Amino acid sequence: MDTYCVFGHPIEHSKSPWIHARFAQLTHQSLVYHKTLAPLDGFASSLQAFQSQGGKGCNVTLPFKSQAAALATRCSPRVSLALACNTLKFDGQDIYGDNTDGLGLVTDLVRNAGCQLQGKSVLLIGAGGAAAGVLGPLLCEKPQQLWVTNRTVDKARQVVQRHAALAMAEGVDCLALSLQDEKLFSQSFDVVINASSSSLHQGQIPVPDSVLKQGGMACDLMYGPAAQGFMQWAEAHGAQARDGLGMLVEQAAESFELWRGVRPPTELVLAELRALLA
Ligand code: NDP
Repeated sequence: MDTYCVFGHPIEHSKSPWIHARFAQLTHQSLVYHKTLAPLDGFASSLQAFQSQGGKGCNVTLPFKSQAAALATRCSPRVSLALACNTLKFDGQDIYGDNTDGLGLVTDLVRNAGCQLQGKSVLLIGAGGAAAGVLGPLLCEKPQQLWVTNRTVDKARQVVQRHAALAMAEGVDCLALSLQDEKLFSQSFDVVINASSSSLHQGQIPVPDSVLKQGGMACDLMYGPAAQGFMQWAEAHGAQARDGLGMLVEQAAESFELWRGVRPPTELVLAELRALLA
C-alpha cells in the first residue's frame, strides 16, 4: 500500500492521520498514513529514510517546514514566497514541495464560512511559518488592503518584502506594522486573522479591540481549547469567530489531491472531526 506520513516534533497531537485515513475511505483510495516524530536535529535523515523505504509523500509541521522547503528539489511558487513547505511528494529521487496552508485557509474562509476577501480590509497577525504560508494565497484573493503585524516587526517587514511583487500585481495595499503601531489603533478590519501562536500563551490577544468590526470575521489558525479565548474576544466585540480546524482539513485536502489526484469531500470530514474533538 502507498505510504504517507506527517513529520513533526512534537507530533503526538496531530490529527492528520485521522483526516487522511477518512479521506482515503471516502475516496476509496488504498493508502496508509502515520505520524513520525523526527529528532530535532534529524529531519533530513528521517525524510531520506522514509523516501528510500518507498514513502510516496509526507506532510511537514513544526519545526521542520523551512528545512522541508530547502530539501525540495522542485517547489511551487507558494513555497518560494513562504520559504516554508508543508507537503512533499516523492517521484524517484525528485522531491516536489508545496505549501497548502494558505489554500486551505482561503477555501475555509471563502467557501466554508462564506467570507469573501476581494476588496476587503484584512489584518494578518504573525510573521512565522503559518503567516508566511497564508500571505500569498490571501493576496491572490485581491483584498483591498492586507496589513501584517507582528511582535518582531522586522519579521513582518521581511515577509511583506518577499511578497511585494505579488501584492503589486494583485493591486493590494500590503504593509508591515509593529503591534504598537498607531495605525492599528485607528482602524478596524473586515477580516482579522490570527496566525501568531499568541493563543498558546494564556489566550493573550496581541491587538487592540478596535481592529474588530461589527459583523466582520475573526479567525484564529489555532483550534481546540486554545482558540477559545480569541474566539470569545471576537464574539464579545461583535465579530464572527472561526477557529483553524476548517483550514486544517482544507490544507490536508490540497495535499491529498496533490498526492492522489482525487479531491476528497471536506465538509463531512470537518463536521466529523469537530464532533470528535468536542
Ligand atoms: P511560528 O513559531 O513559526 O511563529 C509564531 C508567531 O507567533 C511569530 O510571528 C511570533 O512572533 C508570534 N507570537 C508568539 N507568541 C506571541 C505572543 N505571545 N504574542 C504575539 N505574537 C506571538 O509558528 P507558526 O507560524 O507555524 O504557527 C502559528 C499558529 O498557527 C499556531 O497557533 C499553529 O497552531 C497555527 N497553525 C494552524 C494551522 C492549521 O491548519 N489550522 C497550520 C499551521 C499553523 P515573533 O516573530 O515575535 O516571535
